[in-house]
Amino acid sequence: MKAIVVREFGGPEVLRVEEVSDPRPGRGEVLVRVRAIGVNPVDTYIRSGAYGIKPTLPYTPGSDAAGEVESVGEGVTKVRPSDRVYVYRSLTGAYAEKALCTEAQVHALAKNVSYAQGAALGVPYVTAYRAMFHKANAQPGETVLIHGASGGVGVAAVQMARAAGLIVVGTASTDKGKEMVAREGAHRVVDHSAADAQEQLMKLTGGRGFDIIVEMLANKNLAKDLTMLVIKGRVVVVGSRGAVEINPRDVMARDAVVYGMTSFNISDHDLASIHAALVAGLENGALRPVVGQELPLKDAPRSHQAVMEPGAYGKIVLIP
Ligand code: NAP
Repeated sequence: MKAIVVREFGGPEVLRVEEVSDPRPGRGEVLVRVRAIGVNPVDTYIRSGAYGIKPTLPYTPGSDAAGEVESVGEGVTKVRPSDRVYVYRSLTGAYAEKALCTEAQVHALAKNVSYAQGAALGVPYVTAYRAMFHKANAQPGETVLIHGASGGVGVAAVQMARAAGLIVVGTASTDKGKEMVAREGAHRVVDHSAADAQEQLMKLTGGRGFDIIVEMLANKNLAKDLTMLVIKGRVVVVGSRGAVEINPRDVMARDAVVYGMTSFNISDHDLASIHAALVAGLENGALRPVVGQELPLKDAPRSHQAVMEPGAYGKIVLIP
């Protein structure tokens, strides 16, 4: 099979297609014929070698994919060959024609969801659910700001928050992105690149502020976020690409809470619960991953440049 193999950490050019032998499922394992692969910002951090998690070289990147089950090992009861599945993490890496997974790493993909959409699920939807419900404990009727709503995690968070009965404000920096965020469920949308974005956001809440802020770029926004919370408001830091100076008084004065999170810390028990919610949300149509761009697997280097560029529109997926 063809797979992207990284033999040294570095720029996007280290993502090279190679011919490798097909994996074979052992006991409790599932071999998935991959039809689409989700590209996440974290894939680029890991590839660069500058991230906290460094795989042993050589490695095949990626945690998110969708396809059909090709074969199963002894003892597997959850899926059967030809079942449609999405994959969140695998034993051999997602940027490939086939991915070897444990039984727990594959999840049913509803018929109404395309493979490209299935590949958009893993990291973004798991993260959005974790942030919204396990961290912020979002409640119907609350007002949430999805700060960075046009990308993979943001779209997921908008759809979940809307389906759960929250008042949803999202941000994006392009007209296309703003339109999509509104279409996917945000009641109001603001351009986070506008000089008066903070004033616009506060005005939308009638000056009250937000119960919850899901933050995609904390190094830029956290200090301001802390001034936009109601008493007992919560910020969940999902993304950050640098340091930021905050005024702790803004937290004190509001009895506020700042949560950090990384999907790598989610327990198996919590993950199983999150996937159960995602499978149900796909079935009932509340969750509808948005695919903005499809590229062939050989263009993985281009996908790593694109995912770091501004002007997000849902997910970038690779087609093997
Ligand atoms: P993505 O698809 O590339 O989207 C990035 C989002 O950030 C877009 O909505 C973008 O909006 C927005 N953004 C850009 N500048 C912003 C600003 N000044 N203020 C607010 N938002 C801004 O990435 P993603 O997959 O959604 O991930 C978002 C971030 O979370 C990344 O940094 C990623 O590494 C991180 N992340 C963390 C976890 C975790 O476990 N903690 C999991 C997944 C992702 P425009 O392009 O419209 O400007």
